[in-house]
Amino acid sequence: DINLNLNIRGLSQSATLAINQASRDLAAQGRRVYRLGLGQSPFPVPEVVTEALRQHAPEKDYLPVEGLKALRQAVADYHNRHDGVDRDASSILIGPGSKELMFIVQLTYYGDLVIPTPSWVSYAPQAHIIGRQIRWVPTRAENDWRLMPEELDRVCRNDPSRPRIIILNYPSNPTGDTYTLDELKELAEVARKYRVVLLSDEIYGELHHEGEHVSIARFYPEGTIISAGLSKWCGAGGWRLGTFSFPRSLRWLQDAMAVVASETFTSTSAPIQYAAIKAFEGGPEIEKYLDDSRWVLRHLGRHLWQRLSDMGLQVTRPAGGFYLFPDFSPFRQALAAKGIEDSETLCQRLLDESGVALLPGAAFGRPVEELTTRLAYVDFDGDRALASLAEGQPGE
Ligand code: PLP
Repeated sequence: DINLNLNIRGLSQSATLAINQASRDLAAQGRRVYRLGLGQSPFPVPEVVTEALRQHAPEKDYLPVEGLKALRQAVADYHNRHDGVDRDASSILIGPGSKELMFIVQLTYYGDLVIPTPSWVSYAPQAHIIGRQIRWVPTRAENDWRLMPEELDRVCRNDPSRPRIIILNYPSNPTGDTYTLDELKELAEVARKYRVVLLSDEIYGELHHEGEHVSIARFYPEGTIISAGLSKWCGAGGWRLGTFSFPRSLRWLQDAMAVVASETFTSTSAPIQYAAIKAFEGGPEIEKYLDDSRWVLRHLGRHLWQRLSDMGLQVTRPAGGFYLFPDFSPFRQALAAKGIEDSETLCQRLLDESGVALLPGAAFGRPVEELTTRLAYVDFDGDRALASLAEGQPGE
């Protein structure tokens, strides 16, 4: 349509949602489909949180645009406890999903938007919708697709005083990898040197497979916005609740985002906000739920990684979340003989011929001629998996 906004022209629905629809269509025809495309938590919402939602179902009023005070306090306490920062309730912004907050921050911040690739499917389309340019920073397979501090330095060096916001996401969607402590410290140093705003997307932080998740905010508290929410670790993607935690120096940005929020979504669903307090406060039930979720993901991730590696695919050992990023390039010749020379054709053919739904690396900002793919290992019964662990975890 000629009246379509130019920024929207050429965009189609999020790649993840599209593959999910294609999988559903095939399943409706009676085909067995392995749904490894959509990145949705396989686990149920913890019972204490669901119970809080039931209790608060009658809450019906609009809430303050930044969010419910008690929830903002619980989120601030959560980050102070987990991430070694010093934030208070007033530094928290609640939104209907962190995706919405990501969009608003892109709309509000004036300066370069720097995104390492591969990266989550929605950052770039959000930028296109607003008409923003992205400064892509390709990462390298030999670094397991992590952004190296010298690569960040190189981006900033040419024009050191230019305002920049960079999105870092770890554990990563799509790679399942995360940064080492030393890398986080070094990235934080570079960010401080150039006064970069770090938007740290830690939506999978609680789903680290081993040890603990460390936020870069620990090393660069004054310039890091931490993005989190209920969607992944609490299994509540459809509830739509995301959180941003701001340093004091970025209060102006938070306030501007609240203005946009007040003119768009108004406030986040009231019952969900009350229920979210329980999730962020934590407690023994939540801890057990998280331990069990991590146990399942660790074992499944490791098993798949091992099997795919044994088959000859290039794939990074997962450290968190529920994704792998298998690269089929060792099979380039054999695939080319079948007419498969890019990641989109590869995923289409895999789905058509074997019922395996993966997403193409191209949807994550990688060149389409690469044969990278994203696999979400969530096609299992999360209720049953947790129930079978209720009696205690089996040995390693
Ligand atoms: N960031 C990453 C890396 C994600 O994978 C997702 C969801 O898929 C989101 C953000 C958005 O999460 P939500 O809007 O549900 O908080």
